[in-house]
Amino acid sequence: MSWRNKTVTIWEHDCDSCFSLGPHSDGHHDYDLYWCPTGNLGMATFVARFGNDGEQYISGGLAVIVDTNPILTEAQLRYELVRQRI
Ligand SMILES: [Zn+2]
Repeated sequence: MSWRNKTVTIWEHDCDSCFSLGPHSDGHHDYDLYWCPTGNLGMATFVARFGNDGEQYISGGLAVIVDTNPILTEAQLRYELVRQRI
């Protein structure tokens, strides 16, 4: 996908469906943020990868992440900005 190819990412990520939302640091980890249109159970999901190993990511859907995870909330904010441009 074109978004992913234009955006610098830090870690390897093996999901071809994900759109990159760019890197993000919280002072503890460096994350690559993604929006995955398929996600789990067919629901859109936000992903924050912090390492190259398969399990080194956190993810959550819209209903889960509001006010509960600042990293995924950042991903959601970027997604809203990107979506306004397409
Ligand atoms: Zn994905």
